[in-house]
Amino acid sequence: MSERDAEIQRRARAFVEDELIQWEVQAELADGVLPPEVAERHDRRARELGFGAINMPKDLGGDGLTMFQQVLVQEQIGRVTNGLGWVVHTPAAWLPEVATPHQLETWVKPTIRGERMECYAITEEGAGSDVDAIEATARRDGDRYVLKGEKWHVTSANLADHVFFQAKLADGANAGAHALFVVDMDTPGVRVVRTPEYSHTLAHHHPILAFDDVRVPAANLLGAEGDGMRYVHEWFRYERLMIAARCCGAAERLIDEATAFARDRQAFGRSISEFQAVQFMLADSLTELWAARLMTYRTAHGMDEGVDVKVQHAQCSLAKLYGSEMANRVADRAVQIFGGRGYMRENVAERFYRELRVDRIWEGTSEVQRVIIADQLFKRGAQALLD
Ligand SMILES: Cc1cc2nc3c(=O)[nH]c(=O)nc-3n(C[C@H](O)[C@H](O)[C@H](O)COP(=O)(O)OP(=O)(O)OC[C@H]3O[C@@H](n4cnc5c(N)ncnc54)[C@H](O)[C@@H]3O)c2cc1C
Repeated sequence: MSERDAEIQRRARAFVEDELIQWEVQAELADGVLPPEVAERHDRRARELGFGAINMPKDLGGDGLTMFQQVLVQEQIGRVTNGLGWVVHTPAAWLPEVATPHQLETWVKPTIRGERMECYAITEEGAGSDVDAIEATARRDGDRYVLKGEKWHVTSANLADHVFFQAKLADGANAGAHALFVVDMDTPGVRVVRTPEYSHTLAHHHPILAFDDVRVPAANLLGAEGDGMRYVHEWFRYERLMIAARCCGAAERLIDEATAFARDRQAFGRSISEFQAVQFMLADSLTELWAARLMTYRTAHGMDEGVDVKVQHAQCSLAKLYGSEMANRVADRAVQIFGGRGYMRENVAERFYRELRVDRIWEGTSEVQRVIIADQLFKRGAQALLD
């Protein structure tokens, strides 16, 4: 870690400690929503600290952090519950390279400046892990595309003003291929079907969105027809690594909090930290956290060094699989150490116990990560993936 890396890490940690953590319980008890002036202050402060668009290039107005530096920031924001750390924004980093000048000016740069916000509509009722099973269609009609389909779990759709919509081309030379479109949320035909409740308590919802013959200009196609899956894979790779980083942060917070509690809590005339059963839960947690952190840091360094993209893909899966499973084990142990208090929503372990569960599901389930890892293992051998 260079001095600059360490300084970024300290800055992110101080932001979480000084500004965010104190609001967790209030957010939990208010459906994840903070008073508007507080939410605005968090957003403004994140930007002032250089965390407005950490993954975007400086020449477009982003913060231009390396992958390793982004992991350090994400690890710190992983220490706070209720998605309060989501004020650290990571717009679509795959987009600037393929965006047209019109797309750069209309969506990319305003998103980097914090004036606009995106969400992703890929998953459908019948297509989650198996992305290729999507039934949403895009049909060319003159200088427009007509988009049709229903998308599930569209995270942040209640706050976003544009959505990346994945569809299969209905006709033409590339019929059956995937394509990705950017769609303004106020385009006629975009409709919220319903907003289900989820286990966690966030201001960001995950509604089901319908696209009823939504007509968008051909200029809203991202890249070329047939490119859709490539961008999704790039996003998956990135987000899997960031999930691993946030899981490391969550585990560290849980270990800190459970250790402090164990030291203070008395039972049978002694501190419960004197019981080996409690000590071993903490020792196992710390051991697993260190392993996950090393995997995450190493993967990020490899991406900065430009290792082969297939190796990156496998290593991001390794880090996400291990990091998310590790954090869930740590949360389970932390609840146990807190005893009855660990089941109260005002307790950090209870909140993380619910919130971390989705990290084994979204951006590819643990089973899907194993499929990817095994596929790469058979293709490249262990040594190539362990560098
Ligand atoms: C809170 C939340 C937010 C989300 N946000 C978004 C979003 O913003 N945009 C978006 O597009 N999607 C989003 N998703 C969707 C998410 O990515 C999917 O839920 C996830 O990829 C799994 O798909 P599925 O739910 O359809 O499960 P399925 O694919 O139906 O899987 C069901 C079970 O089968 C297993 N399985 C499936 N295939 C295999 C296989 N080949 N081998 C072994 N086991 C297998 C899975 O591991 C799982 O255990 C979100 C989901 C949640 C819960």
